[in-house]
Amino acid sequence: MSNFTDFNLQQQVIKAINDMGFEEPSPIQETCIPAILEGGDVVGQAQTGTGKTAAFGIPVIEKTTHSSKVQALILTPTRELAIQVSGELKKIAKYKRTRTLPIYGGQSIGHQIRALKQGVHVVIGTPGRVLDHIRRRTLDLSDVKMLVLDEADEMLDMGFIDDIEMILKQVNRERQTLLFSATMPPEIKKLSHRYMQEPKYVSISHNEVVAPLIDQFYYKVLERNKLESLCRVLDSQEIDLGIIFCRTKRGVDELSEHLQARGYLTDGLHGDLSQAQRDKVMKAFRDSTIEFLIATDVAARGIDVENVSHVINYDIPQDPESYVHRIGRTGRAGRKGLAITLVTPREMTHLRSIENKINHPLQPRDLPSLEEITG
Ligand code: ADP
Ligand code: MG
Repeated sequence: MSNFTDFNLQQQVIKAINDMGFEEPSPIQETCIPAILEGGDVVGQAQTGTGKTAAFGIPVIEKTTHSSKVQALILTPTRELAIQVSGELKKIAKYKRTRTLPIYGGQSIGHQIRALKQGVHVVIGTPGRVLDHIRRRTLDLSDVKMLVLDEADEMLDMGFIDDIEMILKQVNRERQTLLFSATMPPEIKKLSHRYMQEPKYVSISHNEVVAPLIDQFYYKVLERNKLESLCRVLDSQEIDLGIIFCRTKRGVDELSEHLQARGYLTDGLHGDLSQAQRDKVMKAFRDSTIEFLIATDVAARGIDVENVSHVINYDIPQDPESYVHRIGRTGRAGRKGLAITLVTPREMTHLRSIENKINHPLQPRDLPSLEEITG
């Protein structure tokens, strides 16, 4: 078992890690941090919630100097993740003067251009907006020494491959390239072969795809009673914060309205909201002003909020990957989590195929009766 002090990090960095409450490196950090500090390219794979951000974030912050140019560029699939990663890097850089900046679509580009002009050391951005800045020549990448592809599988799922390749071609060949991902589909292997130099592959394997700290249940429900069934489930559970997944944006809006009408503290998150609206919803959720976040798959990708005790699949996910991503929003950083899936009779075969793929059966549960809830 290693310790953060084994990595020969600067005192300021060690001190910040202490402040963050990290006692020891997670397995992915234990192997990746020294490899990245040595300067080689690294591909890191570990399931969600295992600390991949700090696995690259600690060495990135350790290596930045006070040169006035951008030294590290981190690409993330969504704006929420750009903000989240930037926040974690800021904490690691607390005692250094490293400046980090998230840039993403939906925020005024003028604002970002002004912020970039003030001098930024680490840029965290979504591929589209980063390209936009490159084309406008408002983001100077001539001094970038480290390029990170974070949540690479999700970026590929979201169709960013062309943008990513274009960015990879724009950045100095002498750079160090790092890639992190929860899964390692063939396209990612290909990407790493094409754009990385003799990368070290670090894979933290688990017998099960899904974190052992997540209990997984399903309830059989009838389509016409789904809302009622959901409310019974919610009322019978001790929920800290919950994320409820719907298949469509419209489904999110409708469910959110229905639950609000019944007195639950909820709000919806999906791609049709403006950036300001999304930020507001996420803040309310983080601050626990709302108890349930109702979201589509895309909107909730990679979101890391502490104290999410429950993930509820109101609509069963389309595929096993999406199931794994969804339930990975709970059971994070050593905490226990509960994943609940509502399944209609005709969705039972689909549920079985998910169980087969993730190699883990879900436990059936009976819907709580009204007496159990009120009594
Ligand atoms: P991933 O990117 O692998 O899904 P994150 O980087 O978002 O995971 O980390 C999940 C949570 O674990 C975050 O809240 C993070 O602050 C916390 N965390 C990361 N590393 C450690 C550590 N060594 N000790 C304790 N908590 C950690
Ligand atoms: Mg991550």
